[in-house]
Amino acid sequence: MKNKLLQKRALVTGGSGFIGSHLCEELLARGFKVTVVDNLATSAKSNLSAIIKNKNFKFYKGSVLDVKLMRRLIRSCDIVYHMAAAVGVKYILDNPLGSILTNIKGTEIIFELADKYHKKVVLASTSEVYGKHACEPFKEEDDRILGPVNKSRWSYAEAKAMDEFLALAYLKERKLPVVIVRFFNTVGPRQTGRYGMVLPGFILKAIQNKPITVYGDGAQMRSFTFVKDAVDAVVELSLNAQAEGQVFNVGGAANISIKDLAYKVKERAGSSSQIIFVPYAEAYKGNAEDFEDMVCRIPDVNKLQKMIGFKPEFSIDEIIDRTIDYFRKVKKCDLGGCLR
Ligand code: UDP
Repeated sequence: MKNKLLQKRALVTGGSGFIGSHLCEELLARGFKVTVVDNLATSAKSNLSAIIKNKNFKFYKGSVLDVKLMRRLIRSCDIVYHMAAAVGVKYILDNPLGSILTNIKGTEIIFELADKYHKKVVLASTSEVYGKHACEPFKEEDDRILGPVNKSRWSYAEAKAMDEFLALAYLKERKLPVVIVRFFNTVGPRQTGRYGMVLPGFILKAIQNKPITVYGDGAQMRSFTFVKDAVDAVVELSLNAQAEGQVFNVGGAANISIKDLAYKVKERAGSSSQIIFVPYAEAYKGNAEDFEDMVCRIPDVNKLQKMIGFKPEFSIDEIIDRTIDYFRKVKKCDLGGCLR
């Protein structure tokens, strides 16, 4: 397997981001040559410190909106992992315009060039596209139930859904090989709490013994998956010809309410933090009119299990412990909060 993959060249857009950087490590470990293009808008080059000197690795600081650069990089790779996107509820609410442009225009450029040079594309999408369903596991073929356009949170779901439509249209009309992965809440080391993501936020508070803020009543359910399990699934899907032209949920390792998550983080960190409940209007102050929460977001992963035998290795306790270890080691203030 390893020999067969040797010399295969992967381009990872957004490769210095949280999921992207773990994906790069996995691809290198499997014998790929890896090139990253990342504008470092919400990511950090330090995420690449374990691989930056690897002879099979190259980094370009640049935007997926830079057609000239993307043409050069896509022409000289075998497969594109399109991970670059504006993500994070807080980030989307604060930067609706830039987010829409990056998430739609950037993907258009990738697909146009991938089509021109006939390169396979793995598109990172999101469970957000399902919208506000009832509390039952989402299947890939389910209807989507979204909120109104004056709540800009939904622009992210729309933009990523448009990316998916684009991928499937290129497949249908141009026979471009594509695979679409819908991440549920992927968590672990290097995820920043700066853009609203809940787990790094809770952990940073817990290890500083500061109040952990649960928004709403905390009954909202999410499905958390360790980043290593998620990237493993992505690579397996990308190597499986049967997966081409299909959409897959990636997640499902641990389904838990946000309130329970808060108590678990507090306990596992041995923290004296208070757990406080904050109304949404206060939590998303300044953007409250653009925000609407989802009561539940849990995947059905039968399709993923059938295709690659997906079985997440990390439980919620292990996920939390490993992420706590990471944050305890990091002494910087640029990871979503200061630890000092
Ligand atoms: N949340 C919370 N406290 C925080 C940050 C987030 O209670 O400090 C809640 C948020 O309102 C949502 C859930 O945690 O219900 C997950 O939020 P996140 O932004 O991580 O991801 P989402 O699943 O909403 O995209």
